[in-house]
Parts: sequence; C-alpha cells; structure tokens
Amino acid sequence: MSDDTPALPTNAPHPNEDSKPFWDAAAEGRFALQHCDDCDTVIWWPRALCPACSSFDLTWYDASGNGRVYSYTVVHRSVGGWNAVTPYVVAYVELDEGPRVMTNIVDCDPDAVSIDAPVRVVFHDTGEGWALPRFTLA
Ligand SMILES: [Zn+2]
Repeated sequence: MSDDTPALPTNAPHPNEDSKPFWDAAAEGRFALQHCDDCDTVIWWPRALCPACSSFDLTWYDASGNGRVYSYTVVHRSVGGWNAVTPYVVAYVELDEGPRVMTNIVDCDPDAVSIDAPVRVVFHDTGEGWALPRFTLA
C-alpha cells in the first residue's frame, strides 16, 4: 500500500465450523476454495454442502489467488470508518477457478481499475490472528 493510501477497515471474521478452513488458510496467506467431488463444482463461499447437488462430499484446495475484475464501483461517500478511507473500490472478482467474490481492489489508484483487469489476492492482517483477502491489480 502506498503511504498516501489510508488503510481500509479490516474487521476480524467470525469463523464457524464450515468456514474455519477458509480463514485458517487466509491467515497463512492462502486463498482456499471448496470443490464438490460429486458434481465437480467449485464453491464460493464456504459451506457444508454443495449448492449445485447438495452433496456433503467437499474438498478444500488452494486456489491460484488470481482472477479478473468482473464488475466494480468506486465509493466516494460511506459511513463510519469507511468514510475516512474514500475513495475505495468495491468489486466482484471472477476467480480463475470460476466463482465470483465480492471484495475490495486495493493498493492502487481507483481510476486504474477497469472491467476485466487481472488481479491477484493480497491478505490484510486483522491484528487478531486472522487475515482478510482482498485483491490488487496484477
Ligand atoms: Zn455438487
């Protein structure tokens, strides 16, 4: 992050039994996804059963952490701690593995973001033993 870019609020997650593997991986700098071993669906967000076929036969694996901007907006007015860090980018990133993730595009001028721009994951430490994945221009 450049020195003139204010830090986005980075709240700690509240992992549950289904999401803890994702957050454990993120704390180690890995973006993990689930794969359905019955119907071959890649799953986002973490859950107990496949949204396509309801199978419980899911496997965690490390994703590439790469994707492209599917859609985005630049936020100029917000609330609370978020208002202090405007302008910032809220985006849907389409992962190379297929799922679309709502996230922030960080460490860049918001005007540099564009549809289909390649991005890669970065992890922001929450200061409480967890890390929050966000994306930056690749
Ligand atoms: Zn399935």
